[in-house]
Amino acid sequence: MSGSFYKVECPDCENEQVVFGKASTEVACAVCGTTLARPTGGNADIEGDVLETVEAR
Ligand SMILES: [Zn+2]
Repeated sequence: MSGSFYKVECPDCENEQVVFGKASTEVACAVCGTTLARPTGGNADIEGDVLETVEAR
């Protein structure tokens, strides 16, 4: 399990956005700017609802 992406629903505006599971920088919602993922050194801390896991190709 390395390099997965997650489809995350923003808790504020319900925008669906794909977030890298090991994001090394904070990922903000493209619509409202809410933080969707925070880097932790390993797997990112996902703030919104994960709708789906998208395997890296
Ligand atoms: Zn949003």
